[in-house]
Amino acid sequence: MAEHLKTGWPQRVERQQEVIDTVSRILSEAEHEGGPAIRRWSARLDKWEPDSFVVSAAEIKAATVDDDLAAHLEFARSQVEQFARAQRATLTDLETETLPGVVLGHRHIPVAKVGSYSPGGRYPLIASSIMTVTVPKVAGVDTVVAVAPPRDAAGIYGPQLYTMNLAGADVILCLGGVQAFAALAFGIEDVPPVDLVVGAGNAYVAEAKRQLFGTVGIDLLAGPTEVAVIADESADARLVAADLLGQAEHGPNSPALLVTTSRSFGTAVIAEVERWLAEDWPTKEVAGAAWREHGTVVVCESREEVVQISDAYAPEHLEVQTSDDEWYAANLRNYGSLFVGPEATVAFSDKSIGTNHVLPTGRAGRYTGGLWVGKFLKTVTYQRLTADGARSIAPSTAAIADAELMYGHALTARLRAN
Ligand code: NAD
Repeated sequence: MAEHLKTGWPQRVERQQEVIDTVSRILSEAEHEGGPAIRRWSARLDKWEPDSFVVSAAEIKAATVDDDLAAHLEFARSQVEQFARAQRATLTDLETETLPGVVLGHRHIPVAKVGSYSPGGRYPLIASSIMTVTVPKVAGVDTVVAVAPPRDAAGIYGPQLYTMNLAGADVILCLGGVQAFAALAFGIEDVPPVDLVVGAGNAYVAEAKRQLFGTVGIDLLAGPTEVAVIADESADARLVAADLLGQAEHGPNSPALLVTTSRSFGTAVIAEVERWLAEDWPTKEVAGAAWREHGTVVVCESREEVVQISDAYAPEHLEVQTSDDEWYAANLRNYGSLFVGPEATVAFSDKSIGTNHVLPTGRAGRYTGGLWVGKFLKTVTYQRLTADGARSIAPSTAAIADAELMYGHALTARLRAN
């Protein structure tokens, strides 16, 4: 039986009624009133009511970064692009002849218009703009409308705006949270509605996407960041503690989990977390708050039990630092992205390694992976038949249609039966 040395990660992610109601109200007002409602909510929530929410070419040009950061951003962009291109190459069109004259196939067609959100409440997540703009461009999306919140009621944070442009955004809007998604889904000023919205954000953002699904497509539910580490005595407790706190920094509602086969290692990591929190670093308050509220340490009797526990949490980020890393990599099922070995820290993929950092949270890792080039492509099927091919299919179609009492269907099949 697993022993909990510390508990906190909520086993079920309850959607808060206040969040559901606020999102529903903003979206409903935006759908019925359009721009004025979006403007009103932007003013109320972000103190942001510019002449236009569309960022002008002059403002984009004015957003510069120093040469050093520019080179690092280009490095990150290039890594993300290379990986997305490699992934795109695995998605080949398919055509097969299942019977003489019966040709079935599928094609991957890019979505036409995508809205890409980059979070910017607590931290301006510059790297998110690379993840959500570069990748649809690799997929072949025609128009990417990139959106980020205003920082301190003064427009998009300069380096974030620079990066949105670097990544290839066609249009840039400055709006935050739910009103940003309303603008993408319903259109704003002369920017028409998009077909698909993507990107991570806080609980309001995740709920907005959930409520908009159907009006537009969504990528996945990517809410407050989570981290889990599977580690044993072969790992460095101080490094594991740093990796847990490094992600807890995202916000006070970011859970962090250690699953281990060693009780003494679990105790050591808890002590190392406290040692880190006793040191002086600017974001330790938020990381400490997240750890105290949502930090969890579980000791298991076997590696099979470790896998069972980890899969139940389905963490967004999962690090493995054990003497048996490959066994775990082969046997784990539910996670957003896996970091194998002590060198693979989550921050690498958050910023610049090239895998996408928009990943499933709230146990969505049970049924989906993260954002990737395939999310911007529709896999659509087609069929092409000769007269002989039609004669092979018609009898079964007509019989099934008859059994379903669907005379019209049966008729269209029989017309092709001879
Ligand atoms: P954000 O951009 O998601 O949200 C900021 C916006 O929230 C504001 O512009 C405001 O309009 C809105 N907002 C704030 N309070 C509100 C309220 N009471 N009612 C309605 N709207 C309100 O930025 P953030 O808040 O810093 O959150 C970013 C989140 O993204 C973090 O939780 C982080 O962990 C998460 N994240 C997740 C992933 C992932 O892939 N799952 C990746 C990166 C970041």
